[in-house]
Amino acid sequence: MNSIVTIQGVEKSFGPVQVLKSVDLSVTRGEVVVIIGASGSGKSTLIRCVNGLEAFQKGRIVVDGRELPCEEDRELGDERMLGEVRKGVGMVFQQFNLFPHKTVLENITLAPMRVRRKSQSDAEVFGMKLLERVGLKDHAAKYPGQLSGGQQQRVAIARALAMEPHVMLFDEPTSALDPEMVGEVLDVMRELAADGMTMMIVTHEMGFAREVANRVVFIERGRVLEEGTPGQIFDSPREERTRAFLSRVL
Ligand code: ADP
Ligand code: MG
Repeated sequence: MNSIVTIQGVEKSFGPVQVLKSVDLSVTRGEVVVIIGASGSGKSTLIRCVNGLEAFQKGRIVVDGRELPCEEDRELGDERMLGEVRKGVGMVFQQFNLFPHKTVLENITLAPMRVRRKSQSDAEVFGMKLLERVGLKDHAAKYPGQLSGGQQQRVAIARALAMEPHVMLFDEPTSALDPEMVGEVLDVMRELAADGMTMMIVTHEMGFAREVANRVVFIERGRVLEEGTPGQIFDSPREERTRAFLSRVL
């Protein structure tokens, strides 16, 4: 169908420890998929595989028609599609990972200038639009250290959007924030979803997941145990272990 991310039979080990076990998951264009599961279940590893930050040993991952090389292909030097996939996939981490010695606007314009070969003025015009979109246009000349955590995370989202990605991946984007700053970041993500951005989001914010997700995927010990609409997963999970997890976090 119209899937933009296709994950088929993906297996991933770190040394002897198997972390992903035959994971199948497809994401349709414009869909918001929220991934939930206990700490250590493989959520981060899975989304890091989707933009090539981790190599996997078996299975296939295709993003926007481009197949990511598995570990063996990478070792053989076949990294052809890796860079292309990464250009089209935006990633936002728990730790914002902004460049501390660059201004907010420089953080946003760097990759479009280097990787997309945009002119500085084009990159800055687009960067200012994005800052306006995340409510930070008055902060363009500041350094990350002068901003709150919530503001820094909104800059990180703008920085990812600056590459005009087709898919956005979020790995616990609000977990490092003080509680009063969670809402402003979720608001930006909610707007992105409303604008039709395809998103894969790892989060423990179950209220947000219920409201924004088209689909919720529960991962347990490296497997997709259950997936469904938020209503199905939160109100009537099929699996006892999904129920047990939700009773711990809700
Ligand atoms: P989650 O994001 O769901 O908490 P992770 O994907 O971070 O889970 O981790 C899944 C498992 O893989 C854990 O057992 C973790 O210890 C292990 N793991 C993650 N990254 C590495 C790594 N770089 N080297 C070795 N083991 C790792
Ligand atoms: Mg994680």
